[in-house]
Amino acid sequence: MRIDLHTHSTESDGTETPAELVTAAAAAGLDVVAITDHDTTAGWAAAAEALPAGLRLIRGAEFSAVAPDGEGGQLSVHLLGYLFDPASAAIVAEQARLRTERRVRLRTMAERMAADGFPVDPDALLAQLPPEAPAGRPHLARVLVSAGVVGSVGEAFYRYLVPGSPYYTDRADTEVDTTIRMIRAAGGVPVLAHAFARRRGPVVSAEVIVELAAAGLAGLEVDHPDHSDDDRAALRELAAGLDLLATGSSDYHGGNKTVRLGQETTDPQALERIEALAAGSLVGVVVG
Ligand code: AMP
Ligand code: FE
Ligand code: FE
Ligand code: ZN
Repeated sequence: MRIDLHTHSTESDGTETPAELVTAAAAAGLDVVAITDHDTTAGWAAAAEALPAGLRLIRGAEFSAVAPDGEGGQLSVHLLGYLFDPASAAIVAEQARLRTERRVRLRTMAERMAADGFPVDPDALLAQLPPEAPAGRPHLARVLVSAGVVGSVGEAFYRYLVPGSPYYTDRADTEVDTTIRMIRAAGGVPVLAHAFARRRGPVVSAEVIVELAAAGLAGLEVDHPDHSDDDRAALRELAAGLDLLATGSSDYHGGNKTVRLGQETTDPQALERIEALAAGSLVGVVVG
């Protein structure tokens, strides 16, 4: 069984439509794939509709949140929510708020770059996205690539789009305890994404992960392309000690990243735990 539980489509900042994504997942030899676009469930129906025979779909989303940094401040974290009820009023409302936040924030970053002479048109950038789409830095990065300012999305990030750059701004994301409660209340299973992806910025401490486990976190994404071997070992040990399930996934974004579908995979037993937790908390959630 080859299981990849973290992928993105054009409904957020991936480059393949949900239908193309599931087709590519089957071609990559996966047995199970999760669609986890940022702050939206908009791709679920199209992915399910186009699902190739023999492939199972796990419906999820990646929630933008903030966690304590242990020094009185906050840092950005991502929570993967699996198999939650997409009609949950709390989730529908909060995801809509987050998508608005994303647009306001990306416009601010684009305006700062334009004011500094970069060939970026904030109106055109936002107009090219569907009105309800979760705007993200990869969309701005692609504009910079198209304009020849940088050679790749990755270069756009490290030169201009990460914390420390004068063009970077934060968003008002959800308090992570609230996200965990929201996903659980909707029958879903919350898993902390790429917790130790240090090259993206500051990461949570082990103490914070202990607190999140007490707040209802169900699992940790251990095997992720942005985790070193040491980070993976530390997270695996934390998961074992806190009785959290451990996943592994590619965080595929199509052409916006260099990772391949199925580059990292999840143990079937971890997926069984996810499905058992979801089935135990909400009647009517159907897989794939
Ligand atoms: P945002 O959602 O606007 O905060 O942008 C973060 C998104 O950009 C995440 O989905 C990441 O997958 C992606 N990302 C972060 N760092 C990089 C990088 N170095 N190269 C390409 N994509 C990145
Ligand atoms: Fe992304
Ligand atoms: Fe993420
Ligand atoms: Zn992701």
